[in-house]
Amino acid sequence: MKANYLPPISLREEPVGTPGELEVQALWFEQLHQPALSTDDGRTVEIVQPGFWNHAGGPDFTRAVVRFFSEGKPDEEVTVGNVEVHLRPTDWNAHGHHADPAYDETVLHVVWQGMGAKAFFPATASFRRVPQVVLGTQLVAPWPELQPLCAALLHRPMPQATPGRCSPVLADLPDGKAVEILRAAGLFRLRQKAQRWHWRQRLTSPEQALHEALAEALGFHANQIPMRLVAQRLPWKKLRGLDHEARLAHLFGLSGFLPNESVARLHAEPRAWLRKLWEIWWKARGPLAYALLPKTQWRLAGLRPLNRPERRLAALAQIVTRLPELRAALQSREAGRFGHILLGIRDPFWEKHATLTGAALRSPCRLIGEERVQDILINVFWPMVLPEDPEAARLGLEAMSVAGNSAARVATQRMLTSTLTAKQQREALVQQGLLQIFRDYCQTDCSQCRDCTFPEMVRKWKG
Ligand code: SF4
Repeated sequence: MKANYLPPISLREEPVGTPGELEVQALWFEQLHQPALSTDDGRTVEIVQPGFWNHAGGPDFTRAVVRFFSEGKPDEEVTVGNVEVHLRPTDWNAHGHHADPAYDETVLHVVWQGMGAKAFFPATASFRRVPQVVLGTQLVAPWPELQPLCAALLHRPMPQATPGRCSPVLADLPDGKAVEILRAAGLFRLRQKAQRWHWRQRLTSPEQALHEALAEALGFHANQIPMRLVAQRLPWKKLRGLDHEARLAHLFGLSGFLPNESVARLHAEPRAWLRKLWEIWWKARGPLAYALLPKTQWRLAGLRPLNRPERRLAALAQIVTRLPELRAALQSREAGRFGHILLGIRDPFWEKHATLTGAALRSPCRLIGEERVQDILINVFWPMVLPEDPEAARLGLEAMSVAGNSAARVATQRMLTSTLTAKQQREALVQQGLLQIFRDYCQTDCSQCRDCTFPEMVRKWKG
């Protein structure tokens, strides 16, 4: 490896300094460290999988698999969780991870350098000590020799995962076979979603099931559950009987987003908005006290301002009045009309604000953008069409071209480095298939692909 990639040190123009945090992440991703690493609690740890490299908010590597050894004896079970990388041990607290539940699943804190005789023990918000590894002293070669290998990874788009054992097997399939497999997995995923909404319709009503499904989809990944809880605790039948301000007051009050403290410091517009809502909410809250959501239910850290749940709740308040139209578009299988209604949702205040207390946005922004509409069509519209008209759902998803989210990108890097054309990779049904296989196989695998049965299954399909 060194002979192939590295120029002799004497030819380099500048001496190599200490690495930055991204370079330490690259060292971890490429596993350019000793096979067994010493931890600060006197154990050693073998890294079975370094995890998926996360370039968004939250821990740097997700779903890492490690095995701890105490006095030379391996733990019976591997440990699965997240890995956070920093330059120094104290960066853990400096970045607020000690108080952030998003870091509760961290199983290893990897730092470039230790603190000499001083000790610092990182702990999660739930007061669990996180074992720590100093990487700088446990590399396979001196840092100046590894630096060019890391630099090659840091060009955008940066990788999130390495190709898995199934990747060459899928690439070896006859033309069109890989797409066929992925579409079949996509339809399987669609049927599972359809089943879920079918049962909600039977237990409640078609309108209530649609209200809950849209609320959940608006929660995106981070806040799907609290958004669904809000829609269940404030059913469509109740909300549609209220005027617009009362609907907002109920949604924001029940969700815990109406501030209790003085609003005197706010700008005039949010202050006036809040006063109106509080006047309604303090009279209405009594019977709903049992259903109030604590603010801790919401995940706000690392969220882009435009994805804040306050904006999603404001959108839900508007959707309530348009639900009969949305349902009609669903029944007539008009995805375009369904999406058009959602794109037209307006709210003069929330188009200019991401939070109640923050400054106004530089330019007004739609409450529900194109990307969210696509997500709703994939996760709500077509699964609800499927039981009545499976062919329409299949064709609808095959015709949809989507950019793909982070999970789809990881799945593509794991399984399909060269098998599909760019157009096929953007097809919504193919992406749903990728996500299903990723969930069923990659996210349950603890062996760096070794024990995964998917490649053998693909070989059988080839025959
Ligand atoms: S875990 Fe299985 S499906 Fe995932 S990349 Fe590895 S071989 Fe492929």
